[in-house]
Parts: sequence; structure tokens; C-alpha cells
Amino acid sequence: MPSFPQYLRGLACGAIKKNGKPCGMTTLGANGRCKFHGGASTGPRTPEGRAKALENLKLGRLKRGKS
Ligand SMILES: [Zn+2]
Repeated sequence: MPSFPQYLRGLACGAIKKNGKPCGMTTLGANGRCKFHGGASTGPRTPEGRAKALENLKLGRLKRGKS
């Protein structure tokens, strides 16, 4: 993790979980939250990316057959 901000080292995520307790994950993303609370992927941001994601979704449905 080369781009990990040094000031976040050793800190916990701190986001309030569904059970009301603060998240204790210490593997944080650049915004100071863990991967479950907005750390890593933000999903497709561009129209092209969204179209691609939708395409993959349809493809997956086709492969699994009708349901
Ligand atoms: Zn968290």
C-alpha cells in the first residue's frame, strides 16, 4: 500500500456500524475509512464506467440463465 497516508497509521475507521458500535478496522482508505465505510472502491464515476458496469451485470444474468 504505497499511497497510504502516514497520519492514518494506527487509527481505526470509527464509522458507526449497524449494531451501534464504532468500526474498529485499521485498514483504512485515503479518506480515513475502511473498505466497508467508503475507503476503497467508489464504483463507476463516469457515464462510460456506469454503462460498462451495467453491461457486466446483464452479461452475468445471461450466463446464469433465466431466474
Ligand atoms: Zn469501517
